[in-house]
Amino acid sequence: MSKLLYSLLLVLVLSTLGFAAVELAPKGKPPLRLNDVYLLQGLPYVAVDDMLDAVSLRGHWDSVKHVYRIRTARGWAELSPGRQSLKIGKLFFPLQEKPRFIDGRLRVSENFLLSQLPLLIDRPVYYRNLNPVRAEQGGDDSTLDRLFSFLLRKKHMVTGPKLRAVAIDAGHGGLDTGVIAADGYKEKQVTLDLAKDLSKILKMNLGIPIYLSRDDDYELTPEQRIKPVTHDDVDAWLLLHAEGSFSVDAKGVALFVRSHDDKMTETRKDASRQLAEELAQALTENSVPVVGIFSSPLIQLGQGDLPTVLVELGYLTNPEDLQRLRSADGQQQLAQALYRGLKNFAMKRKKN
Ligand SMILES: [Zn+2]
Repeated sequence: MSKLLYSLLLVLVLSTLGFAAVELAPKGKPPLRLNDVYLLQGLPYVAVDDMLDAVSLRGHWDSVKHVYRIRTARGWAELSPGRQSLKIGKLFFPLQEKPRFIDGRLRVSENFLLSQLPLLIDRPVYYRNLNPVRAEQGGDDSTLDRLFSFLLRKKHMVTGPKLRAVAIDAGHGGLDTGVIAADGYKEKQVTLDLAKDLSKILKMNLGIPIYLSRDDDYELTPEQRIKPVTHDDVDAWLLLHAEGSFSVDAKGVALFVRSHDDKMTETRKDASRQLAEELAQALTENSVPVVGIFSSPLIQLGQGDLPTVLVELGYLTNPEDLQRLRSADGQQQLAQALYRGLKNFAMKRKKN
């Protein structure tokens, strides 16, 4: 049997057995097919070596430091098994999943290919999963999916016209630092400070319960992360984060609402966007630059119809934003604006 025929047959056998394969390339270039893909709870993991080949980057495993080093136009990037961040130069970028050694090779998840690989090659990435696993087929939906289905049911309990309670998630925490500024200031700190400030202002002015995902510096499980939202009286959910960019010019607040592909929640789908618009207006009025409101399929936003906005509070890599994010005055400026936005949102809902 010819080698080519044998390979074709092998690919055929592997694909019928349900092994995964993906295509990967810098956008606009012919994609490379990667066949050594490992599925972990339905999520594809590819070997770092294969990933680098597909985008023409070079790297090596440093067995002394226990890190994978990748040469990029921005300097050396480092990945480490067990560390939930990608280091590029002096910046740290949080990862959704830690890199893992599987089958003798260091591997990263599909989310890495979509979110961090573009940073490494400084351009968009073409990625396609050739054998997507559907959760509803396998029935192995993750705990996170099951928890988010609770949010879907939430709409039947949200009846009151005004704001009864607010849930606030201070992003990251503990070993999960989030983005780290060049001076060492961490995203997990900004989000905690802002969550506490905003909570205080809301309690004082509206006298309503505020549920925080964390009130100190510790790591949360996905269940703990969304526990605040499981209270029956929660009428809005804010998730607080901050960003990092290679461009020092990138600055301002960005607001994310979940993107819907279902039509059944037409009315409340607008509620998240309404809340985002009120927040954006209040921030602008309070002299905080706003980049825009974006629809996002971010899994953190869940799938329900609870008014939910993920707020990227600014860039730790921009001097002006950093000053606002780390100073007490700047934090008050942000917290007051978010409070005003929530209040205006509540008042307009009351009228409807
Ligand atoms: Zn974050």
